[in-house]
Amino acid sequence: MQFTIADLEREPANFSVALPPKAIDFGEEATQLGDLAAAGRAEVLHEHRGPKEIVADIRLKGTFSGNFEVPCARCVEPVQHALTGEYDLLFRPPGVDALGNEHAISTPETEIGYYENGGLALEDVLREQVLLSLPARTLCQPDCKGLCPRCGVNRNETACSCDQGPSDPRWEALAGLSSRLKN
Ligand SMILES: [Zn+2]
Ligand SMILES: [Zn+2]
Repeated sequence: MQFTIADLEREPANFSVALPPKAIDFGEEATQLGDLAAAGRAEVLHEHRGPKEIVADIRLKGTFSGNFEVPCARCVEPVQHALTGEYDLLFRPPGVDALGNEHAISTPETEIGYYENGGLALEDVLREQVLLSLPARTLCQPDCKGLCPRCGVNRNETACSCDQGPSDPRWEALAGLSSRLKN
């Protein structure tokens, strides 16, 4: 769903959508299960920065909720998360906060984004909001034993007998990758 500044200048847009899995690409960090629901309102906010300078921002305010699967940071098994969140975000036109104009920023930096090509895709905003709402580190259980660095078995399921011998760097790379995803 695309919000353009031209449409929003005419009238604000209220939205309520149910996005099926794969409507948004969450990469390897999360897999969406079932629909992702999102509802809220998009509108134009005019920032009066001077007698002649008016900046047309897009304000997007709403909620989302959905179920996601995230790989365990140690054993890479999928773990389910029910995620909900609220957002109230401001998107400025590109370039308005170029050097020398920074005094104009009045709201906390983290809530400011920029729209491109005259508009904003709801899907892009939701992708970021969902990823931000994920726990910093997901474990399938607090004492997950992880993957054996030598043979690669899931040590929660199988006791392997490789206490000695050289380790296989491929499994260490996989374990390192999954922990990096969460850092
Ligand atoms: Zn695990
Ligand atoms: Zn092993």
